[in-house]
Amino acid sequence: MAGTSPLVVAMDGPSGTGKSSVSRRLATRLGARYLDTGAMYRVATLRVLRAGIELTDTAAIAAAVKELPLSIGTDPSREVIELDGEDVRSEIRGDAVTKAVSAVSAVPEVRELLVAMQRDITAAAGRIVVEGRDIGTVVLPAADAKIYLTASAEARAHRRNQQNIAEGRGDDYAGVLADVQRRDTLDSTRKVSPLRPAEDAVDVDTSELSMDEVIDELYRVVAEQVSAYGAGGDR
Ligand code: C5P
Repeated sequence: MAGTSPLVVAMDGPSGTGKSSVSRRLATRLGARYLDTGAMYRVATLRVLRAGIELTDTAAIAAAVKELPLSIGTDPSREVIELDGEDVRSEIRGDAVTKAVSAVSAVPEVRELLVAMQRDITAAAGRIVVEGRDIGTVVLPAADAKIYLTASAEARAHRRNQQNIAEGRGDDYAGVLADVQRRDTLDSTRKVSPLRPAEDAVDVDTSELSMDEVIDELYRVVAEQVSAYGAGGDR
């Protein structure tokens, strides 16, 4: 399945399932590009926060992101995320953005703009793993393969907490679990593009699997879907 022919893989699921590292590695294995759409919502959120806009002021949020000078790379081995030419990779993962991102990404104008960018990037790449929340349902409903990654809230909070410890942000399992649950609720109950699996997505639960096992399973699932639907075909 490795090769250069067009292949679009939609990878959705809640936060903390290991989705980003898994998607990046799957892309490398497939010889494909990689797009982190969560990073795009985070950049939009950073712009809103820097402009000092209230998160309840949806009109001001829509206006602030109307012309978003966002640059995002698609090389799975080299992350490039810039706002107006500034490297914001680290800042968009910080607490302030993480707390505000659900509110900003619920604004329809923000989604409209970023979804259009995501479709353009996918079309230009041809062979790509696109990771997010609504890729298989809204952004790329005709994707060649669709995967919905899940894990229990506890497993996801544990992973994120371990990551925080490793990166020097401290140990707070209870706080992280509460945040995971809060974001799950916000993301799955919002009116625009709520988080839910596409009907034709294959569920992969990562709670009990190692990273290598997840990649093997995903590669298998993608191969299966591609042979069932045919890469490049309509779904
Ligand atoms: O994947 P990540 O945790 O970086 O995503 C951050 C936030 O961006 C999510 O909690 C969600 O609110 C939003 N998001 C979204 N649609 C996507 C990707 C992310 O609404 N396709």
